[in-house]
Amino acid sequence: MNGRAQPLEIPGVLLAEAAGPAGENEPAGPPGNGLLTLRPENLSSAAFDLEAAERAAAALLAAFGVPAGSEAALRTPARMVAGLAELLSAPAWEFTTFPNTESQHELVLARNVPFTSVCAHHLLPFSGVAQVGVLPGERIAGLSKLARAVEAFAARMQVQEELGQQVASFLETRLECRGVGVVLEAEHLCMTRRGIKAQGCDTVTVATRGLLRDDPSARAEFLHLAQAPRRRAA
Ligand SMILES: [Zn+2]
Repeated sequence: MNGRAQPLEIPGVLLAEAAGPAGENEPAGPPGNGLLTLRPENLSSAAFDLEAAERAAAALLAAFGVPAGSEAALRTPARMVAGLAELLSAPAWEFTTFPNTESQHELVLARNVPFTSVCAHHLLPFSGVAQVGVLPGERIAGLSKLARAVEAFAARMQVQEELGQQVASFLETRLECRGVGVVLEAEHLCMTRRGIKAQGCDTVTVATRGLLRDDPSARAEFLHLAQAPRRRAA
């Protein structure tokens, strides 16, 4: 974690070094600060074959007995594909970092970041909240970037364990920070509405790096504060 930041690809999301100025609301960072731009607008044209997906959706509906020529047979395939494409896309953003001028070396934690992703095993959504903690090093991230990282990695088919690890690895690599922790709490429709139908069940995963993994007191502080307030109220 002490080496220079290396490019970290987000599979399914185009990740490129920013070529132009930063967005309207964000100051442009100095060269070499790891400023990134995600361009999901390229996804639908480059990564998704929407026409092939609509043909496949139509075939699926026909196989499930939807009458040919019905409104559902005619219009639902496009709606199915648009909905899935939306779940698998994220807005463009820039990963902006700033010098850590006030020596904030203690925990920075963004809590209850909402997310929705798509289970790679069943193609059903899973959604919940993320607690994202960072022990800063030489640079700090714009706070919204912690939530943006969750949003960007959530926009793909995967399992929850992978999502937490991806966000943790991305932040550790890009921020060169001293520790990262990502706690995800989510309901999986594939488990609560089908199969075992365990309604009310949620799934919690923990992904940590650096001192938030290896230092017992730092890890304990993170896990304590990472408990959502509604769960800590008791
Ligand atoms: Zn599933």
